[in-house]
Amino acid sequence: MKILKIDHIGIAVEKIDEAKKLYEEILGLEFAGKETVEEQKVTTAFFPVGDSEVELLESTSPDGPIAKFLEKRGPGFQHIAFRVENIEEALQELKEKGIRLIDEKPRKGAGGAKIAFLHPKSTFGVLVELCEREE
Ligand code: ZN
Repeated sequence: MKILKIDHIGIAVEKIDEAKKLYEEILGLEFAGKETVEEQKVTTAFFPVGDSEVELLESTSPDGPIAKFLEKRGPGFQHIAFRVENIEEALQELKEKGIRLIDEKPRKGAGGAKIAFLHPKSTFGVLVELCEREE
């Protein structure tokens, strides 16, 4: 497998509209838009930083993964996403190497990306997302 770059860093927040002030007005980053991914019960907002992005994540439902994360740990760093060339190949290879996968098959993420998560138990406590995008 080949990792091309850090695609984005995911940060869980209670309210995107409140956190957006920090990233846009205070840190001066460009706000690249919001998107709700119903299947994941999440609304995301992207702020490009150089070759990567910051992704803010707000839950759309009290039983969504971000709501559960906030309940357990409070707002903050939630996942790191690596851009890969071929996500199916990467998942297959990681599986063969004994890495526990949350997603055996890629699912649809924000911006039409194909995404899949690795289990933090296999990655020293860090939730790792792989993503493949057309660009
Ligand atoms: Zn992400």
